[in-house]
Amino acid sequence: MSIQPSLTTGQMMAQPLLISDLIEYAAQHFGKQQIISKRLEGDIHRYGYQDALLRSKRLANALTALGVEQGDRIGTLAWNGYRHFECYYGISGMGAICHTINPRLFSEQIEYIIQHAEDSYLFVDACFLSILEPIADRLISVKGIIVMIDEDQMPNTSLVNVINYEQLLSEHSEDYLWPQLEPSTAACLCYTSGTTGNPKGVLYSHQSTVLHAFASRNPDALNIASDTIVMPVVPMYHVCAWGLPYIAPMSGATLVLPGDGMGGEDLYRLIDHAKVDLMLGVPTVWLGLIEYLKQHGLSIPSVKTVGVGGAASPKILVETLDKDYGIYLLPIWGMTETSPLATLGSANKQLLALPEDERYALQSSAGKPMFGIEIEIFDEETNTKLAHDGEARGLLRVRGPWVLKSYYKSDKTDCFVKDQEGNTWFDTGDIATIDAHSYLRIVDRAKDVVKSGGEWISSIDLENAAQGCEGVVEACVIGVKHIKWDERPLLFIVRDKGIESQAERLDKEAVYQFLTDKIAKWWMPDDIIFVDQLPHTATGKLQKRTLRDEYWNYLVDND
Ligand code: AMP
Repeated sequence: MSIQPSLTTGQMMAQPLLISDLIEYAAQHFGKQQIISKRLEGDIHRYGYQDALLRSKRLANALTALGVEQGDRIGTLAWNGYRHFECYYGISGMGAICHTINPRLFSEQIEYIIQHAEDSYLFVDACFLSILEPIADRLISVKGIIVMIDEDQMPNTSLVNVINYEQLLSEHSEDYLWPQLEPSTAACLCYTSGTTGNPKGVLYSHQSTVLHAFASRNPDALNIASDTIVMPVVPMYHVCAWGLPYIAPMSGATLVLPGDGMGGEDLYRLIDHAKVDLMLGVPTVWLGLIEYLKQHGLSIPSVKTVGVGGAASPKILVETLDKDYGIYLLPIWGMTETSPLATLGSANKQLLALPEDERYALQSSAGKPMFGIEIEIFDEETNTKLAHDGEARGLLRVRGPWVLKSYYKSDKTDCFVKDQEGNTWFDTGDIATIDAHSYLRIVDRAKDVVKSGGEWISSIDLENAAQGCEGVVEACVIGVKHIKWDERPLLFIVRDKGIESQAERLDKEAVYQFLTDKIAKWWMPDDIIFVDQLPHTATGKLQKRTLRDEYWNYLVDND
């Protein structure tokens, strides 16, 4: 007997999951719930989700009038603020792709990214115009630049086709019907420099973004509800501020956007003003905030939870937040490639009942996977899955509906690996252990990059720069522990042994001098160590693991 197709197919509505639905929902059901922004103009701006919806619709109309079509890439170079939030919705909502650009990258990387994405318009905070001015001639895809500032504060610039954001919005109607897009439609593009070679684009879809938001607001993840006051201290150009501009409207939560105020004093003022109870960011930011609080004898009683990701959560930070401020440090692991949230260590009853030492140890792990995310560790040689015993170290691979399956316009495939059952995994480049309760711990990194204060430094680029210095035979860069920046680069150099005279031998000063105009200032190695030889593998590759093991605490010990 044949089975009727209608009986094997689910009979539910095929409603697509779209980014525009998030803001529509928030406006309809939490219309007065606020977005509180510290503006670059200096004041605090407040409005409700209903206002944000109407301005996003004006923006969608404006984009349409500018000739923007579905699939076009629209770049943003901006801090965390309500106008950037409107770009997230106006651009993606009308079917174009919101491409958030990291202004901290080098000029060449920014140029590369804009060219690679072929952005047609750029929405820019006035403070970032100086990044575009020197490269504008080469950005041939860019038709215009929209400056996000009050009309009466438009700065002078050598850029052409410049439009004021407020003026643009004022010229267009707030009546707009969002298109009913396919759920797989591309919505947002974010480049990561956490790989070797040029930055690579990760293209999120409407569906992946909404699913990521659903999962991330759960009690065992960020635990965000309509009465939560949440502040992303992670920039909106870093993996969409870890999804908070989507998660907050989905939850009807109050969203606090700190602008460029990521330093201790600015954060304290805004936390106090908005009575923030959940914040997210990299460890460096929290160290800065704590330093400010300690210096001024201040506290932040409204804050209950601080989510820490982008780097391991140091135990001392877990302890300080707990003991001195009564704040739970929520550990998070994720990547640009995973939207980014993948694993979190929530404060459940079992965990809170553990003896302090055990609890702190779990809080300085990377947490457990959310539903939807699968994680495994693999043996590099045999490609087999390793035991979840908290001891075995292996290549961390992930799968899930908000994990990328390929990079944007790239043929890089070596990071997509099949297991023995034929399932494809994304190889993260992290080395990890997983314990019997599924807690993940990142123990090392296979990818050749250093993460300093949440930003990537390419060891290979740094080595190549040093290699150009006369008298250098071989150069090697590793990331080592740093109290403030998590990691900093350490440069090892094997000098030319042919140069015997002490006076002519290369010294640190000469290397620093040589590097000055070749790398960004914040890439400068914290120390340079001259060695007779460097460790190599059988295939001649630098054996960085040996150096990392030996020198991991070098900067801490020598501080
Ligand atoms: P990004 O794509 O810039 O967000 O960087 C992702 C990378 O940051 C990961 O692959 C890790 O190397 C690192 N990272 C993120 N979260 C953690 C964590 N909880 N512990 C250790 N490393 C982390």
